[in-house]
Amino acid sequence: MSIKLTAMTHYVCTGGCGENSSVGGTCNNNNCIKYHQPLSVCHCEDGRHEEAFQNPNMIAEGQEQAKA
Ligand SMILES: [Zn+2]
Ligand SMILES: [Zn+2]
Repeated sequence: MSIKLTAMTHYVCTGGCGENSSVGGTCNNNNCIKYHQPLSVCHCEDGRHEEAFQNPNMIAEGQEQAKA
């Protein structure tokens, strides 16, 4: 038997703070440049979140981005 990593949808902050969530949401680190901005969708298996960083605008559907 081998341990198989499955690509699970997760959401990461691309502001560099390392925030990530399995259910989406916004960055909770008030010292992050993306504080309170929606996390980006990612499906990586290696924890590098390259997908999210390459497509930082692919935010979770249903997320409301408050614009002043
Ligand atoms: Zn952040
Ligand atoms: Zn990822």
